[in-house]
Amino acid sequence: MHVKRDDMVEVISGDDAGDANSRKIARVLRVLPDERKVVVEGVNRVYKHLKPSRQNPQGGRLSKEMPISVSNVLLYCSTCRRGVRIGRRYDDEGRKERYCKKCGNSLGALSKARKPYARKSS
Ligand SMILES: [Zn+2]
Repeated sequence: MHVKRDDMVEVISGDDAGDANSRKIARVLRVLPDERKVVVEGVNRVYKHLKPSRQNPQGGRLSKEMPISVSNVLLYCSTCRRGVRIGRRYDDEGRKERYCKKCGNSLGALSKARKPYARKSS
């Protein structure tokens, strides 16, 4: 999975994608690795109509985001200002990190520093 919880992503296909110039950028609320799906804030929202009940005497609508395929989102790069393809690499301290394949900037560490992977400073 190329995204994790709290990542900002660009939605590139599906009903909420918008057109190429006004793509939706939103936060990942939940990741479902087994289904290769993610729940993204405000994307693929469905309304459930509720009958009046004791708890909710008015009845009404409940809105809830449904999962979308992880292949419909790209991690957002704040340098490129768009969703991008990512790579993984080790930084100088041996932390695994994700980076933007377009501009090369780091998109955040994924692990703690591990000596064997640290770059030798010779
Ligand atoms: Zn970038």
